[in-house]
Amino acid sequence: MIHIRKNISLASVSTFRIGGKTELFCSVKTPEHFIRAIEWAKENKIPFRVFAGGSNVVFPDEGLKGLLIRFHGGSLRVLKNTIIADAGVPLAKVIAISLQYGLRGLETLSGIPGTVGGATVGNAGAYGHSISEAVRKVEVWDGKKRRWIPNKVCKFGYRESALKHEPLFVLRVELRLKKGDRKELQKKSREIISIRGKKYKPGIKCPGSFFKNVVASEVSRSVMRKIDAGKIIGGKIPTGYLLEEVGAKGMKLGGIRIPEFHGNLFENTGKATARDVKKLADILRKRVKAKFGITLEEEVRYF
Ligand SMILES: Cc1cc2nc3c(=O)[nH]c(=O)nc-3n(C[C@H](O)[C@H](O)[C@H](O)COP(=O)(O)OP(=O)(O)OC[C@H]3O[C@@H](n4cnc5c(N)ncnc54)[C@H](O)[C@@H]3O)c2cc1C
Repeated sequence: MIHIRKNISLASVSTFRIGGKTELFCSVKTPEHFIRAIEWAKENKIPFRVFAGGSNVVFPDEGLKGLLIRFHGGSLRVLKNTIIADAGVPLAKVIAISLQYGLRGLETLSGIPGTVGGATVGNAGAYGHSISEAVRKVEVWDGKKRRWIPNKVCKFGYRESALKHEPLFVLRVELRLKKGDRKELQKKSREIISIRGKKYKPGIKCPGSFFKNVVASEVSRSVMRKIDAGKIIGGKIPTGYLLEEVGAKGMKLGGIRIPEFHGNLFENTGKATARDVKKLADILRKRVKAKFGITLEEEVRYF
């Protein structure tokens, strides 16, 4: 059974706490219900969008027409070094299980909010690793049938995948991990969560880092000459550094504030709107382009 509700606040289902209302809303917990909700919308010729944890999205102030489907929840199983999880399972739960079984490969992603499906679509990562390193295959609904797509076909890149751009709906993710030392992995996970807790205070209204970092090999030599080489980490130019260089820290626009400790963090101070977000993003993009010749790209997804 799928349960359709009306006029649900989008702000209430995103970590940024921004957005008007969605005309229709439906939350599902299994791949089968996810497919059923999509098919229901199609049969009734209702426009629809999907999301999951809501931790990487900016919803529109004017709200959404049609049906918004949320895949959040589900089950998982562990078979030796493999975890097969429904896309809606919180990433934190998948990581906790991997640690419990002494499986290595997800521990650096500790503390990233959202679901394993959302993480796979955007190839979420931290501390030099991303989920694509552990993904073996992804089960999708292509509008006609369920099928498994191997890692290579997902075309994972830095915060990128083909799943982000094609009309495919992620149902399940199969992760292949390596044997590790349970205690060591748990310790590393705790350390990472503690470090992250200093940057992202509990309850902070944000979607994580706002812009993607810049892949150093993708920018020209003349641009690289303007960059302090000491700032490059793991082949990436941190966007936080670029934004700091153009005076982003401490900036305010409407209800958005950029904290003094992190140039690439848009925080909703309470009454921020998607309009504020886009305005500030445009100002900063122009400043970075003018100073460094780099065009910043959002990591967050606008709906
Ligand atoms: C405090 C904080 C810290 C963060 N730190 C990090 C970090 O260190 N590294 C990092 O990479 N990210 C980080 N993020 C961003 C975010 O948590 C990740 O991008 C996360 O993986 C998004 O998952 P989600 O389930 O919330 O996806 P959502 O935000 O709900 O959706 C993201 C996109 O995926 C699509 N999508 C979701 N589920 C499906 C599905 N089943 N099928 C098809 N499409 C789908 C949606 O349409 C949308 O376009 C952070 C966010 C916050 C709030």
